[in-house]
Amino acid sequence: DDNLLKKITAHAKEYGFIFPSSEIYDGLAAAYDYGQNGVELKNNIKQYWWKSMVQMHENIVGIDASIFMHPTTWKASGHVDAFNDPLIDNKDSKKRYRADVLIEEHIAKYEAKIEKEVTKAEKRFGEAFDKVQFLATNPNVLRNQAKIDEIENRLGTSLEKGDLADIKALIEELGIACPISGSKNWTDVRQFNLMFSTELGSVADDSNKIYLRPETAQGIFVNYLNVQKTGRMKIPFGIAQIGKAFRNEIIARQFIFRMREFEQMEMQFFVKPGEEMEWYESWKEKRINWHKALGLGEDNYRFHDHINLAHYANAAADIEFRFPMGFKELEGIHSRTDFDLKAHEEHSGKKLQFFDTVENKSYVPYVIETSIGLDRMFLAVLSAAYTEETLEDGSERTVLKIPAALAPYQVAVLPLLKKEDSGLPQKAREIMSDLKFDFNCQYDEKDAIGKRYRRQDAIGTPFCVTVDHQTLEDNTVTIRDRDDLSQIRVSVEELKAKLKEVTSL
Ligand code: ATP
Repeated sequence: DDNLLKKITAHAKEYGFIFPSSEIYDGLAAAYDYGQNGVELKNNIKQYWWKSMVQMHENIVGIDASIFMHPTTWKASGHVDAFNDPLIDNKDSKKRYRADVLIEEHIAKYEAKIEKEVTKAEKRFGEAFDKVQFLATNPNVLRNQAKIDEIENRLGTSLEKGDLADIKALIEELGIACPISGSKNWTDVRQFNLMFSTELGSVADDSNKIYLRPETAQGIFVNYLNVQKTGRMKIPFGIAQIGKAFRNEIIARQFIFRMREFEQMEMQFFVKPGEEMEWYESWKEKRINWHKALGLGEDNYRFHDHINLAHYANAAADIEFRFPMGFKELEGIHSRTDFDLKAHEEHSGKKLQFFDTVENKSYVPYVIETSIGLDRMFLAVLSAAYTEETLEDGSERTVLKIPAALAPYQVAVLPLLKKEDSGLPQKAREIMSDLKFDFNCQYDEKDAIGKRYRRQDAIGTPFCVTVDHQTLEDNTVTIRDRDDLSQIRVSVEELKAKLKEVTSL
């Protein structure tokens, strides 16, 4: 729902999560800045990913490669020749679109029809409803699914062949109208390369042309032997990286879902040729479990297996998330074969083989990639967390139910009174200076306590520790729970242990 996305965007700005870039100059399209709360949430997402991918796997290590790479990298990877999107303009509105996205949005209409049938049937059959059975047998569902498959197949084939005329024909046959003016008056489809380029050094000629990386993966591929040798890694092993990537997206809308500068969290897993399918399946499972463990709602995820594959892949699937705009790609899991490493061998003239001491032979490993957009993950967390509630006393609140471990602040320490002579601020400060070694804490003494609770709700702080007159008598404080509003009283000695218990994943 577009309205929800608007609300989330406004909330993110009002509470210091995300600001439009260079706002005083009216902003820059599809560029955003993370504010004081946003950067904390973003760092926590990074850390959650890094810990589970690197620290929890003995055979995965990390790197941090530079954004600039030798230009031949992008020739070898296929990006110079093939990293294009099909672009189309509407002649009346003069608006520019990605032709494939227009078609996909059309497909979403059939998906919505299927969802409607499912909801209807769920209501009718109640407990006895078998969704899998229903999807496989209901004639309306089957008709809509067949239409989706047919359109997706044709789009995939045309994209693969670079048959731009057929993509235009498909848009016309489906009667797709310009979303803004309703006009069907389209130009031809053109290819548009998504890489940003600039010049290295002071001489601006073509030989100095370099690119901003459009994915972080290539920094891993060109370093894989360095890491393997210096880290004495044995196949199977993985290399992880978090970093910025740049794509000159034709249309960049929908807040931080599609930006021109964004961050990726990628892991390339190097395996023995022939074993890639097992690892592909195993990483699909690990990654979906990672998402589900966060508690954003299991129903909010689904897999989308690709029928049409990119030039480098022999299997690929997306993990899709239910964003306010519907189910959309959040993460990709790709079996990239030996395409990248072979291409780099060819272009660099260097051998990129791994010597397998068990088999006593050398080979170029196959690669399974998991690639997730950090900003998209951020949007997923915000979308699932954003809640408007009417409380029992009739008052309303907007609360971000962010998983405790990811929240910008885990704890807010609040003295009931601000007045120094009450002794409460001093006590609260004392508690805070002990807690801040273990938790990101916020201290707040301004305004009535109810108002302060609302402020913490709005930035997603899961626990408020309140220091009141009783604290000075018996050294106990209350812990208020953001989600169910319950309050428990605990002694200051046991406070840290109690908070540890409730904030860990
Ligand atoms: P899409 O089809 O949405 O353009 P993609 O299939 O090109 O995405 P990949 O190349 O597989 O995406 O990139 C891996 C991940 O990087 C995506 O799953 C997504 O989370 C993230 N990502 C890609 N492009 C963008 C972007 N423009 N802005 C934000 N995140 C992005």
